Amino acid sequence: MDNLARSFFLAEIVKGFLLTLKYMFFVPRVTINYPYEKGSISPRFRGEHALRRYPNGEERCIACKLCEAICPALAITIESEPRYDGSRRTTRYDIDMTKCIYCGLCQEACPVDAIVEGPNFEFSTETREELFYNKEKLLENGDMWEAQIASNILSDAPYR
Ligand code: SF4
Ligand code: SF4
Repeated sequence: MDNLARSFFLAEIVKGFLLTLKYMFFVPRVTINYPYEKGSISPRFRGEHALRRYPNGEERCIACKLCEAICPALAITIESEPRYDGSRRTTRYDIDMTKCIYCGLCQEACPVDAIVEGPNFEFSTETREELFYNKEKLLENGDMWEAQIASNILSDAPYR
């Protein structure tokens, strides 16, 4: 009898509608309208690589090649030569992003915080070739994300 009454009054459907209404109007949303809204990410997030400059525009990288040596994926290729002022700078700095495993070791090894994994995670491409980054591309990334990268490094500094 009980089952008959429940079927007759469509009790399960009514319960389902009430649940839907509850989630529509009374429960905070857990989803966001990506890509127009973005969730927060940790300052330690390891995203797209970037090469940083000092505030005067000088490249930070001193071509010590520690990042190249430590990279477990052999994704980094560096060539260097002395500059007119005697300082050493890279003439080539390539990262094969198709090999990179985003371990962050290059960033940890760098003595001058030049190579970093920035906050950008939106760098998918349509071709493999676009993921072969050169120095120009990496410096461009650094210029684009410097404010956020510097703030992330600062907020993580007390824990290092
Ligand atoms: S994140 Fe790891 S795998 Fe990628 S370039 Fe740096 S050291 Fe190599
Ligand atoms: S990015 Fe850092 S670790 Fe790599 S060569 Fe330049 S200074 Fe050395």
